[in-house]
Amino acid sequence: MGAPNELNLAALARYSNDFLREVETHVEDGEWVKMCMQCGVCAGSCPFGPHWEHSPQKIFMMIRAGKREEVLSSDSMWMCTSCYNCVVRCPRKLPITQIMHGLATYAHRLGLAPKMQPTRQWSLQFWDNCTRTGRVNELKLTLGLYFRDGLLAGVKKAWAMRAVGFGLLRAKRLNPFELLRGHECKDQAGIHRMLAKAHEIEARRIKLDRFKA
Ligand code: SF4
Ligand code: SF4
Repeated sequence: MGAPNELNLAALARYSNDFLREVETHVEDGEWVKMCMQCGVCAGSCPFGPHWEHSPQKIFMMIRAGKREEVLSSDSMWMCTSCYNCVVRCPRKLPITQIMHGLATYAHRLGLAPKMQPTRQWSLQFWDNCTRTGRVNELKLTLGLYFRDGLLAGVKKAWAMRAVGFGLLRAKRLNPFELLRGHECKDQAGIHRMLAKAHEIEARRIKLDRFKA
């Protein structure tokens, strides 16, 4: 089994570049990217197949080719639905889903992620909503989404979804009073302390990553 490992190491040395090292250091499970053998199984298994610009296979190839700007500004990572099709089929057992989300997070952290990408916007809105009181206010979240592009666009979207809204009302799954005050966690101060601690740990980890790089 020694020979294949040597070949593997030689191939790794050939493909090694700064961006690959950066991904390995900063992106969750990024150290797996070098194991991709470009078989294309993930690209063929992904339900997004023809709908996105860069499949995981392409992203991994671009990382190894040092295409930093193209990778980090790609919107493809944000479109991953976490269906795990690629992960169960990858012959090299790469944690593809985690890498895709890790790349999206890293690009966001660097301020390089596409600003208007809908999943990114949704994630930010969801985070802001649920961390205020520790519970998601679904009504405010939905309305925030509908009215994100202005009053007229919001009214149009709400009107288009009226059947769903009335259905939820009838089924008691939507409470209009949530607009005034929704469900809240009892210990909100505790939630905020916990989040502040998580931010502190994350900031420390990022600093350590930079030091290692
Ligand atoms: S299935 Fe795995 S080895 Fe094949 S291209 Fe995708 S990530 Fe690479
Ligand atoms: S987990 Fe993401 S990248 Fe993998 S097949 Fe599903 S949508 Fe595609």
